[in-house]
Amino acid sequence: MLSLLASKTCRRRRGGPPELALGMKHHAKPFLLSVALAVALVVPVHAELDVARLKAAIETAFEADYSKLDALYKDIHAHPELAFAEVKTAAKLAAEMRALGFEVTEKVGRTGLVAIYRNGEGPTIMVRTELDALPMEEKTDLPYASRDKTTWNGRETFVAHSCGHDIHMASWVGTAKTLVGLKDQWRGTLMFIAQPAEEIGAGAMAMLADGLFTRFRKPDFAFALHAGGFPYGNIGYRVGAGSSNYDGLYIQFRGRGGHGAMPQRTIDPVMMAARFIVDVQTVISREKDPTEFGVVSIGAVNSGTAGNIIPDDALVLGTIRSFKPEVRTRMLAGIARTAKAVAEMSDAPAPLIQLTEGTKAIINDPELVATAERALKAAFGERLRLTPPNTTSEDFSEFGGSGVPLMMFNIGVYEPEKWTAANKSGTPLAGNHSPQFAPVPKPTIQTGVTAMTLAVLSAFDRHARGK
Ligand SMILES: [Zn+2]
Ligand SMILES: [Zn+2]
Repeated sequence: MLSLLASKTCRRRRGGPPELALGMKHHAKPFLLSVALAVALVVPVHAELDVARLKAAIETAFEADYSKLDALYKDIHAHPELAFAEVKTAAKLAAEMRALGFEVTEKVGRTGLVAIYRNGEGPTIMVRTELDALPMEEKTDLPYASRDKTTWNGRETFVAHSCGHDIHMASWVGTAKTLVGLKDQWRGTLMFIAQPAEEIGAGAMAMLADGLFTRFRKPDFAFALHAGGFPYGNIGYRVGAGSSNYDGLYIQFRGRGGHGAMPQRTIDPVMMAARFIVDVQTVISREKDPTEFGVVSIGAVNSGTAGNIIPDDALVLGTIRSFKPEVRTRMLAGIARTAKAVAEMSDAPAPLIQLTEGTKAIINDPELVATAERALKAAFGERLRLTPPNTTSEDFSEFGGSGVPLMMFNIGVYEPEKWTAANKSGTPLAGNHSPQFAPVPKPTIQTGVTAMTLAVLSAFDRHARGK
């Protein structure tokens, strides 16, 4: 679309009043105006996406408007809310988006919101942020650190934005502002969604079940970003799998309890659990292709009350991660078979096996990534890097499961010098979900806004060129 609009903007450059040319130099100019003018002045006739100049224009506008985004970020950071309780957070974002001219619908998927901005014929591009924080205490000493508490699963807990979802929200609002400011550079519809409950893997499904793609519309493409534990100004991305398939493991071994001194009269479920925990790792080491990613970890074993009582049963809880569906299928089959075999060895009843399907791997669409990659490479050069997929899981994948091409990328959050020094010292800086996780707001959000704006523009541009 940028190329189609270029001649119009250039006519304006030639014919426009001279005072417009000064507009972009004054930071006091309203943000939207300054972006629009800056770009109108710099896009040449029939250009490809002129990334260098767009980036400069975005950064000039960001600089002029950052104080508002900074205040929003610090307010959200200081007052985090847990999954499906993000009522005040959602209201803050709704107000921001309405002020920008978006049509906002609240309470989609309980606490989520959908913000639509129509700007002529063209594709619909979705940009997603998460809303939720974590039930943990922040220990950063930042002046805007959270001291808020709430009740979670019946217990009082601190709440903290230790995953960086507050960075995502500020970047999301900043990107919306920038794209509205650049609205004569693209045609189509922006669908900005704020999703609840990512940390419990339930929010994306809740929004889809509440008609995200039917009551509103199914987007042509969707983007999301995530804060990552590396220096700010840098971007990590990948083609194909970007996060893991997540399955829960719940196995109850059923035995026959009795006296610890007379094991011959019992069927010992603790022995079964122990044997299973060891043997299940052979599914990973002997059955799975060693060049493919797959992990099974046992995180909880619950059985018994006293040393001299053989209990009736033993419960084993774990997590199973993989990238590829065929690897996942093979692992699930091997895990179930191992549990059954262990019970059979003890002549015990069949165990109760529940391998519950969780979130799927994010699959980054090759074409969408290739388009964004060109723009991001031009803007960030060596600071854009292909990175290995995360072994963690993310429910952004749910939107891909509904047939929407996705791209999720990571942005760095740390002071580069501190990051290097910490790595040299052997104690890396605290990462996501650590109580010390502390992104440097301004350069991190600036990278988020610049990268996301360029990614969205690249997708509009590709469509406008009929590709
Ligand atoms: Zn998280
Ligand atoms: Zn997260």
